Amino acid sequence: MPAAYPDSYYAATADLLEPFPELEGEVTCDVCVVGAGYTGLNAALSLALTGFDVVILDATRIAWAASGRNGGQVGSGQRLDQLKLEEMVGGNTAKKLWSVGEEAKAAVFGLIDKYAIDCDLKRGILHPAHKLEFAEEWQRYAEYLQANYDYADAEPLSEDALNERLGARKYYGGYADHGAGHLHPLKYALGLTRALKRTGARIFEESRIMRLRDQNAVELDTLRGMVRARFVLLAANTGLLDLDAHPRQHIMPIENYMLATEPLDEATRKSLIRDDYAVADSRFIVNYFRLAGDGRLIFGGGERYSPQAPRDTKRFVRRHMLKVFPQLRRTRIDYAWGGTVGITRHRLPYFQRISNNVLAAGGYSGQGVAMGTLGGQILAEAVQGVLERFDLLADLPKTAFPGGARLRHPLHVAGMIWFAMRDRLGSPLRRLRKQSKPATETAPDGPPGNGNGQPSLDGSQP
Ligand SMILES: Cc1cc2nc3c(=O)[nH]c(=O)nc-3n(C[C@H](O)[C@H](O)[C@H](O)COP(=O)(O)OP(=O)(O)OC[C@H]3O[C@@H](n4cnc5c(N)ncnc54)[C@H](O)[C@@H]3O)c2cc1C
Repeated sequence: MPAAYPDSYYAATADLLEPFPELEGEVTCDVCVVGAGYTGLNAALSLALTGFDVVILDATRIAWAASGRNGGQVGSGQRLDQLKLEEMVGGNTAKKLWSVGEEAKAAVFGLIDKYAIDCDLKRGILHPAHKLEFAEEWQRYAEYLQANYDYADAEPLSEDALNERLGARKYYGGYADHGAGHLHPLKYALGLTRALKRTGARIFEESRIMRLRDQNAVELDTLRGMVRARFVLLAANTGLLDLDAHPRQHIMPIENYMLATEPLDEATRKSLIRDDYAVADSRFIVNYFRLAGDGRLIFGGGERYSPQAPRDTKRFVRRHMLKVFPQLRRTRIDYAWGGTVGITRHRLPYFQRISNNVLAAGGYSGQGVAMGTLGGQILAEAVQGVLERFDLLADLPKTAFPGGARLRHPLHVAGMIWFAMRDRLGSPLRRLRKQSKPATETAPDGPPGNGNGQPSLDGSQP
């Protein structure tokens, strides 16, 4: 029996595909793609369209993991804001990374358009700040993007301008990103799968890769089958940890939880989020929310550092939702679910050449709807010898999580609890630096907050 999708709003409202077969026996192909989230699906699609003989396998179902469960926000840039990136990697590389982020959004919007994927795509993300100093920084950041990155879609919002758009408890202003967007993540992934299926690529589910022998041709074993491939693309995200020692040191799985309310009437919807934008706030453990295609509020937030799911996920997330929207205390919660976010220590995406014929990508740190989609395309380009974007991303600084296999999770958690406490206690974070400073080591596990307002899918989550 194929694994069931989690009991999420997304699985309940997507037109699920018939299960694909489990791999049995031996198959040979040009490229084997391991993992069928956005990265794997778009890598396989790009290669199959170019004439490669492609096999894609997933350990469970298509988009069963993060790609079928996330907040659906298609954010701009990278997970780190441009100022932080400029400090870390210098102005030139930061500019290239911004362009890659723009290409990533365009890739998502382009695929949805090209394949007429019905996935409730809407434009716009609001970034409200929960502290006055953050609001001022974000307003300046929007101006900075306009002036230095030619990004006219960033609009600073005063407290009044924000509160006209968002009927939430105390936010002090922030900015709107009119060029970002949001979508139904599972419908989007299944749309990519339908396009891939039409290319004739071979797709297998319930086919976990357990071993990989890296010789002239790479051989990969599942429980009942074996694939022999010239190239292998490891697109397993947090599943990479079981496949190779390098990603094991650099990607950390973190659990995050979401809920969906009952459908809301139009007046309530408009009173919550006037323009139907997604929202990602300035908390270290970000609250991120939006209205679904059928008018429910989808809300992600809260912090939880144990790998165990909360006993009552609806209750756990609802507590955070009510802090933002106390007016929803009588609103029914219909669905709640969790997912695993792959984060890196500096919140930069993880691209790595494991060997001549094996490439890996993942660890988008809560920014993978857009970056995972483009990441797949970048892996496909690399197989064809076009390395510019792959090398840019693979050459970004990578720092292993400290503490080895046993201690790295507790150390990381301690770092995040510290930042979350600082967030609550109100220590000001001066994020829009007046002068650029030399690159410094970031906090134990990366910078606090999310500067550009992308879901900082950090603590209990992304
Ligand atoms: C709750 C939550 C909210 C999020 N919100 C946002 C958001 O709003 N915006 C945003 O941009 N990002 C968000 N993210 C992050 C985003 O979902 C991910 O970055 C993105 O989906 C990663 O895609 P992927 O294809 O790299 O990996 P995944 O979607 O994780 O897919 C990896 C696949 O590999 C398979 N696999 C693993 N091991 C093996 C193996 N050994 N053999 C075969 N297959 C294997 C898995 O079954 C899985 O299907 C969120 C994530 C979560 C969990």
